[in-house]
Amino acid sequence: MLVHESADASMSYVRDRAVVLRTYSYGEANRIVVLATEEQGKLRTVAKGIAKTKSRFGARLEPTTHVEVVTWQGKGMPVVTQVDVVDNFRSLRTSLSKLTRAMSILEVVDQVLQEHHANKAVYRMLVGVLRVLDQEDSPMILPAFFWKLLAEEGYSPVIDHCVICSSKDNLAYYDVALSGVRCRSCGGSEAVSKDALMAIRLTLGGGLVKVLNMRDESLAEEMGRLATRSMEYHLERRLKSLRIAPS
Ligand SMILES: [Zn+2]
Repeated sequence: MLVHESADASMSYVRDRAVVLRTYSYGEANRIVVLATEEQGKLRTVAKGIAKTKSRFGARLEPTTHVEVVTWQGKGMPVVTQVDVVDNFRSLRTSLSKLTRAMSILEVVDQVLQEHHANKAVYRMLVGVLRVLDQEDSPMILPAFFWKLLAEEGYSPVIDHCVICSSKDNLAYYDVALSGVRCRSCGGSEAVSKDALMAIRLTLGGGLVKVLNMRDESLAEEMGRLATRSMEYHLERRLKSLRIAPS
């Protein structure tokens, strides 16, 4: 993050890298652009005159775009003064399936990132998953990303033994509150298949490429459902449109 102090010390230009999470209208010609930045966490900025046809920023501030951005920061909301595209991720906007997955990714990152609270790991994961999705489509991308995000946020699941009795046999349920599996004797309400446990283990254990190649819709649905429930529980938010439907 490059900072150029102005004569007035309370104002400065700040350069940062970011992914555009969402934008919405603000006044007649302005847009609020919510960014997932590398150095400043979530940053709500205003892009002036963006609604005009000859806007300097044009399509550079569309959701999913990876940009280098300069903002003028003082007392009010940071104002975008310069935008350079780092990655356009063009294919995300030409495939409905990819776009749907990308929007769910942006939505969950929007929920997880805090304003003005740098979280480089989440920023890097976001750029990484958009790069993968830009290259190839797989139903496993979204659930795999959710599990990695949960682990990053401190909710690494216990998947090798029962969280109640430590037994390694007959693991059959997933306990969202305790972030781990339970055996058949200890019981539970959320059934989990052996395949889903294996896929989650691979995802978190360096076997992501293998998982992405599985391309199994029902497995993706199960992994995604458990991850979404865990996030809902731990982040105490309802991630409404986030229920993963096989597509
Ligand atoms: Zn048990």
